[in-house]
Amino acid sequence: MNLKHLTARLISLLGEAGVRENESMAAHTTFKTGGPADLMLLPHTEDGLISVLRVLREESVPFSVIGRGSNLLVSDEGLHGAVVKLAERMDGISVRENRVTAQAGASLRPICLEAIRAGLSGLEFAGGIPGSLGGAVAMNAGAYGGEIGDFITSVRVLDRRFETLCLSAAELDFSYRRSAVAEQEYIVLDAEFTLPEGDPQASMDKMNELNARRRDKQPLNYPSAGSTFKRPAGHFAGALIEQCGLKGFSIGGAQVSEKHAGFIINMGDAFSRDIYELILHVQDTVLKETGVFLEPEVKMLGEF
Ligand SMILES: Cc1cc2nc3c(=O)[nH]c(=O)nc-3n(C[C@H](O)[C@H](O)[C@H](O)COP(=O)(O)OP(=O)(O)OC[C@H]3O[C@@H](n4cnc5c(N)ncnc54)[C@H](O)[C@@H]3O)c2cc1C
Repeated sequence: MNLKHLTARLISLLGEAGVRENESMAAHTTFKTGGPADLMLLPHTEDGLISVLRVLREESVPFSVIGRGSNLLVSDEGLHGAVVKLAERMDGISVRENRVTAQAGASLRPICLEAIRAGLSGLEFAGGIPGSLGGAVAMNAGAYGGEIGDFITSVRVLDRRFETLCLSAAELDFSYRRSAVAEQEYIVLDAEFTLPEGDPQASMDKMNELNARRRDKQPLNYPSAGSTFKRPAGHFAGALIEQCGLKGFSIGGAQVSEKHAGFIINMGDAFSRDIYELILHVQDTVLKETGVFLEPEVKMLGEF
């Protein structure tokens, strides 16, 4: 690709503020690791998003769509092509009666707070998950017995041809930490939740209590991507890892958290490679010692 020509075309669509070259992904992931992306694109309207996607396709530029990077491990070698980040400028939230609509880039916490302010309940579980709505729909993010798919009535997405579709929750086929988004290569634009009425004070208390539990149990003072592995049927990943004596085990700057073995943390100077090798080591050890395979929940981008 002719980067200069491509960049000029993209700037004409998104303005200077919407196009960054050679952008370090460490600044866009909660692991705080990852090399540079050739291009980072920050559309602020749906039309802008569709226009840049068309240009990328025309110019055969590979791209990934990300939200807040809170479930991503990006290669130290960086990413060839473009990263389209929706979490900085496509983050509108609106409430009408008992329906909350949010754009893909909106963070879960403000969505949850808007719902509570409007006297709606149900999303308290999500108030401490540091992702965007788009990432949460893609991952069917969940905690403390709730999942994002539980209250969704519809999701607007772009399909592979960049046509807009409006899908029901059933069509998104939510299950534990997955939805149809990845398989179908949908790009989430926005979603609507239909929520039951609730008492704002009780909802705030519940959200604060769940967040206090997180602070108590999780190593939130270190960069991480939350739980590194999915929960295997009939087990807890953290308990298996601990049982194998891996709590505190480290490779380079990456460590299996002493506080919660289900989290791999960046001790400050980790490379993505360290985290990746630690993931492999944990998988290998747990499989050998317990016979259980741990599937990563964290999504990897780039070459490993
Ligand atoms: C401290 C901490 C605690 C966490 N706790 C929880 C928890 O309790 N429960 C839980 O489920 N997760 C948890 N996570 C993980 C993470 O926050 C969730 O997976 C979240 O939903 C990811 O959202 P994101 O916007 O950061 O997505 P990203 O990390 O940016 O992307 C994740 C995936 O979603 C895709 N994606 C993102 N946006 C879109 C879009 N608009 N359209 C299509 N695909 C998209 C990406 O391509 C990628 O495959 C935690 C993470 C941290 C750091």
